[in-house]
Amino acid sequence: MAYDDSNVFARILRGELPCIKVFEDDHTLAFLDIMPQSDGHTLVLPKEPAVTLLDLSPEGATACILTTRRVAAAVQRAVGAPGLLISQFNGEAAGQTVPHVHFHIIPRFPGLKLKAHGRERGDPDRLDQIAARITGELASAR
Ligand code: 5GP
Repeated sequence: MAYDDSNVFARILRGELPCIKVFEDDHTLAFLDIMPQSDGHTLVLPKEPAVTLLDLSPEGATACILTTRRVAAAVQRAVGAPGLLISQFNGEAAGQTVPHVHFHIIPRFPGLKLKAHGRERGDPDRLDQIAARITGELASAR
């Protein structure tokens, strides 16, 4: 699928728009979802331009899943979630709204329903506090 480099994640990757970053390496970037479905909702994306998982190189896909696994463990500890939903949408028909491939890490808590997808902005102070806990967990896991 043709990649449009004006999408919001491409702009974040180029540093043109801000994000609440929790992890970065040579191939991937992870930051908090600005409209979290639960506390700790984090996105992991490759730096490689690709719309869907099927457009991504095997190396990019490998880097993404390794970062997702590493960041998910830190998210889980940071928010004390007993479960994690990890999801990934390919194409508008599947619910993808930003055309740069990404993985969602969404903490789940018993009896707590998820907020709607991409609807309500998170409280900025709360997002910063959660990000600090996640980066703290990542630092202590090294
Ligand atoms: P998709 O529907 O493409 O799987 O998910 C896109 C996600 O990106 C949504 O959960 C939405 O809340 C999030 N999102 C959209 N725009 C921004 C943004 O500018 N910054 C951040 N951090 N997240 C965004």
